[in-house]
Amino acid sequence: MSINLKSYVRDIPGYPKPGIVFKDLTPLWKDPAAFQTMVDQLAGHYQSSRVGTIAAIEARGLILGSAMAFVLKSGLVPVRKAGKLPWNKIKASYSLEYGSATSELHTDAFEPGARVLIVDDLLATGGTAEAAVKLVQELKGKIVGLAFLVELSFLKGRELLKPYGVEIFSLLQYDQP
Ligand code: AMP
Repeated sequence: MSINLKSYVRDIPGYPKPGIVFKDLTPLWKDPAAFQTMVDQLAGHYQSSRVGTIAAIEARGLILGSAMAFVLKSGLVPVRKAGKLPWNKIKASYSLEYGSATSELHTDAFEPGARVLIVDDLLATGGTAEAAVKLVQELKGKIVGLAFLVELSFLKGRELLKPYGVEIFSLLQYDQP
């Protein structure tokens, strides 16, 4: 039986501020079959990619990333918001669809040359993912890909990320808000 994952995504117009249509993924995650389908399809794309470490972006990327790491038998490192990581770290700032922020990564997240897959729940303008790419590159990781459950294609995150030459994979695309 195939599952239509889009039917589990709830649109919340005006959250967290006017003009934004927030993609609420909690209805998808609370459904066992939908959750499993999401993880199988995302992880399945990287089955032959020899992923050593998943760099999962806080907060919702950690939900997907940890499940994918389990399936792919890879490690997991968090890319977190400023001030959350307890040890030595590097940082990168970026602008968001709704604001600006700084991401951080522990300096010992992986060894130089490690095969790193970057994971987040959603690609919008691409700023968050770009910051993660910069962090992984600064530590000399080899980026295997960028994986998202949702891609808001109309915000052109793919174009922002193009110069980095990294493969981008998303399960659900939306071409309008
Ligand atoms: P961006 O940096 O613009 O690509 O934004 C991506 C990040 O912001 C992801 O970590 C998402 O969780 C969050 N985000 C941005 N826009 C939305 C949206 N419309 N619905 C849900 N999450 C969003």
